[in-house]
Amino acid sequence: MLKHNFSAGPCVLPQEVLKKAADAVLNFNDLSILEISHRSKDFVEVMEKARSLALEHLGLSGKGYTALYLAGGASMQFLMVAYNLMEKKAAYLDTGTWSAKAIKEAKMFGEVNIIASSKADNYNHIPKDYSVPDDADYFHIQTNNTIFGTQLKSTPQVNVPLVCDMSSDIMSRQRDFEKYDLIYGGAQKNMGPAGVTLVVVKDDILGKVSRQIPSMLDYNKHIASDSMFNTPPVFPIYTTMLTLEWLKENGGIDWVEKINNHKADLMYSEIDRNELFKGYVIDKEDRSIMNATFTMNEESLSDKFNSMAKDAGISGINGHRSVGGYRASMYNGLTVESVQTLVDVMRELEKKA
Ligand SMILES: *Cc1c(COP(=O)(O)O)cnc(C)c1O
Repeated sequence: MLKHNFSAGPCVLPQEVLKKAADAVLNFNDLSILEISHRSKDFVEVMEKARSLALEHLGLSGKGYTALYLAGGASMQFLMVAYNLMEKKAAYLDTGTWSAKAIKEAKMFGEVNIIASSKADNYNHIPKDYSVPDDADYFHIQTNNTIFGTQLKSTPQVNVPLVCDMSSDIMSRQRDFEKYDLIYGGAQKNMGPAGVTLVVVKDDILGKVSRQIPSMLDYNKHIASDSMFNTPPVFPIYTTMLTLEWLKENGGIDWVEKINNHKADLMYSEIDRNELFKGYVIDKEDRSIMNATFTMNEESLSDKFNSMAKDAGISGINGHRSVGGYRASMYNGLTVESVQTLVDVMRELEKKA
């Protein structure tokens, strides 16, 4: 088995979470977790635990927010956000492929104002100087650009509701979460398997648009039914709950952030030191702690590097086709040891080159 999984998503999960999830498939209070009713007391407890842990980790318990676990992926949120929040126009920050996709969906509901974009530079940095008009219905951003390896380190100061796709850095670092009015993220990058998306919404931003909203796309309907409007993805939610418990037992976001920073330091130090490689992101402060993107200066060595990495048990480091080169995704479940293994292979290659 390849033991160092750097995949961008679905991604590596902590071994003990995988073990508990596997056990529950065979026996969860005398049935399989895959067989139980979502209305059973046992599953209702799982759902409530998963919802409350999400708010607790983000420091948002008792602050007017609701956590929902919805199907359809983060991509579904691209349209749900606009459906529920856009009356006339909304502002979007264009920092990558996922922003572009969110913008495309939002355009079906009103005027989309792209207030800044780094597209012309193939998204190798985060635009900094911009202001968001006060008459926008909301401002939409991505904190981490999974494909390009950039990350917004600070929180934009705006006077309109702030909506954020945190798919690939949710639960990985502290932020001023109270400054965000709606946060969403597909589970498969930092929390669990594919199939469920966490949505954390501040209740008072809802119910303000005049259009009719289909039930399945209406946040208020999901809130009213405690995130059980229809059959929820039981197993992904259970596994997400296990990951959030794992995070809590170890010390929460504060704990994992330190480890994530350490892993990123190890990785970027080697990218900068080793002359065979070059970082993709221009501005060092924009470098993602989660996804390190880099290219090789000598293409002729790539076959050798790929086979050495594979021999060391490394998988998932190929870059996305729109960037090329390599991408090391270092989500919460990835160990320091895995990063060290990749760094060792890069050094080994340098010696042999
Ligand atoms: C992966 C990803 C998405 C898409 O998620 P799906 O759950 O596949 O729809 C959206 N935004 C970001 C930032 C992502 O990394």
